[in-house]
Amino acid sequence: MSQRIVITGGASGIGLTLARRFAARGDRVALCDSDAAAVAAAQKAMPDAIAETADVTDPAAMDAFLGRVEAAWGGADVVCANAGTGGPAGRIEDLDHDAWRACLDVNLTGAFLTCRWAARVMRRQGAGLILVTSSTSGLHGVPHRTPYVAAKWGLVGLTKTLAMELGPAGVRVNALAPGAVEGDRMDRVVAMEAAASGRTEAEVRAQYVEGASLRSWVTADDVADTALFLASPAGHRISGQVMAVDGHTERMV
Ligand code: NAD
Repeated sequence: MSQRIVITGGASGIGLTLARRFAARGDRVALCDSDAAAVAAAQKAMPDAIAETADVTDPAAMDAFLGRVEAAWGGADVVCANAGTGGPAGRIEDLDHDAWRACLDVNLTGAFLTCRWAARVMRRQGAGLILVTSSTSGLHGVPHRTPYVAAKWGLVGLTKTLAMELGPAGVRVNALAPGAVEGDRMDRVVAMEAAASGRTEAEVRAQYVEGASLRSWVTADDVADTALFLASPAGHRISGQVMAVDGHTERMV
């Protein structure tokens, strides 16, 4: 049966792959993203989707976007709080307060605003699935990445707690924890971590491969496979879980 899927940060990377994969199986998709050019490209690729420019840290913009989704569909079956940013890299004593705050704002507060809306509509429906994109960084420590790691651990707490709050109302809440995903974003992260730690990009890249038991990175489609499974009838008893899609991370340093 066709589902109504909302995805934040849905105009590129994992979010766009989620949007494409859900749309390909006949679901209705609404996405928002702060990158207007990426939103325009996503809209062109998926003319039937609701695609809007909105920043997840802006309560008014999110209320407007989500309000339009609610008006169009009457609710939502799956809400993916996916928008995220890598934040700054460096020793904590050198980190800028504003950069710390901006990272927490997008990754954690953005998810709060998205989940708050999802909780309201899904509690009313008595059904639904919230998927929060955390990270293997939400299960391990990563030197020089304190704001991102703190935010991603925070999302695990958000997931566990919302699963308790909403479970009795029939709403499931799970986190996706991707490992290193092939793509532009990890290319940028590798460059940033190399600069912060004095290693070469090849060394940082090799460290991510060596740190996973399966000795490989993952793809956005691997992450989408897990999301589609959780959104399928086969996932109907799964809630409060952090689903790592990472080839089993043994260590991140
Ligand atoms: P990406 O940069 O390709 O995509 C993220 C999208 O979010 C972009 O389109 C960006 O414009 C959007 N975005 C950023 N800030 C926003 C804001 N304030 N409001 C609305 N949209 C915003 O990155 P990705 O790899 O697809 O990341 C998606 C999620 O997966 C993030 O939460 C990220 O932390 C997480 N993640 C990624 C990896 C990885 O290796 N790529 C690993 C673990 C977790």
